[in-house]
Amino acid sequence: MILVCNQCLGVNRVPDERLQDSPKCGKCQNSLLSGEVLEANEALFTKLTARSELPVVVDFWASWCGPCKMMAPVFAKLAITMKGKAIFVKVNTESEQQLAARFAIRSIPTLKVFKQGKVVGDMAGALPESQLKEWIGQYL
Ligand SMILES: [Zn+2]
Repeated sequence: MILVCNQCLGVNRVPDERLQDSPKCGKCQNSLLSGEVLEANEALFTKLTARSELPVVVDFWASWCGPCKMMAPVFAKLAITMKGKAIFVKVNTESEQQLAARFAIRSIPTLKVFKQGKVVGDMAGALPESQLKEWIGQYL
């Protein structure tokens, strides 16, 4: 399993059977599967979506967006419960305008699921926890 370090952008190969023992980055010792939602800039986003072998679930959000704020704790909770099954990433569409433009984000929040660099899931709008979990689950 290939995992990308969110600190140094190092690409790590981790045996599947070790995914459950908190694997660390070989370069910088950062935890590779922290269960945290990663705040991605363009460099991290590009590396993660291109190289990570786990599906990458991306929340395109903005600070002025009420539904985004409501969904944030749900997203964070799912990042923990789905740890080791998917990588959860937030992209701030105000500070990362090039990413928002690249993916033609028109409404916020927009969720996208990436597998091997390709968008496999795409949804606009916030969902309650059970529905969000189900939506993400179909791509794992
Ligand atoms: Zn690292």
